[in-house]
Amino acid sequence: MNYEIDLPCILCDKSSRSRIHEGCEARMRENLEALPGLYRALAGALQPGRRGDGGRPSTRTAPIPANETALDLRARGGIEGVVGGWARDLCERESWTIPAYQSIEAVIDWSCKILVTNLRVICDEHPAVREMADEIRQVTRQARALVTGERAPRRVSVQCSTPDCSGILRVTLDTAGERCQRCDTQYGHSEVLRLPLADRRAAA
Ligand SMILES: [Zn+2]
Ligand SMILES: [Zn+2]
Repeated sequence: MNYEIDLPCILCDKSSRSRIHEGCEARMRENLEALPGLYRALAGALQPGRRGDGGRPSTRTAPIPANETALDLRARGGIEGVVGGWARDLCERESWTIPAYQSIEAVIDWSCKILVTNLRVICDEHPAVREMADEIRQVTRQARALVTGERAPRRVSVQCSTPDCSGILRVTLDTAGERCQRCDTQYGHSEVLRLPLADRRAAA
């Protein structure tokens, strides 16, 4: 039996000598640095007739789902809700004054900046850093997919490998890790991707 001396990285569950891998922290930083630009670029994703209609004038067509997602992400509570929420949380923990920005864009710029500036401390100490990283990754991925025109990553259903557990995990290829809801086994990124595909009927 092999005993792990290192503890699992809080963000990806793979063993690590630090609380969080440098690479995992760097990915979080990249996302935070990308979000203000993605927020602005999303305005372009909202223009009708820009994507996939061959340039024909889009008269009286129902809004395509991509536009709705872009609207949600740009609305208060979208990207702003995620990074603004975590930035305000940080300020409250540190007893810092929260600036009263009016525009969504200003809140996003401020939030991403203060989270990046304090990311080292957040990764060292913040009790909910995993949640924070997950939410930030998710919103960045959604925004980037709309801006670049890529489709959202497909989810696949895989079977938990614990003996006698019938748990199904819904994962994306870029997942940082997943926990089986049934038996509570935690899988890291590469472990998840090695799990067998689940029966389609069971996955539905
Ligand atoms: Zn990690
Ligand atoms: Zn399981």
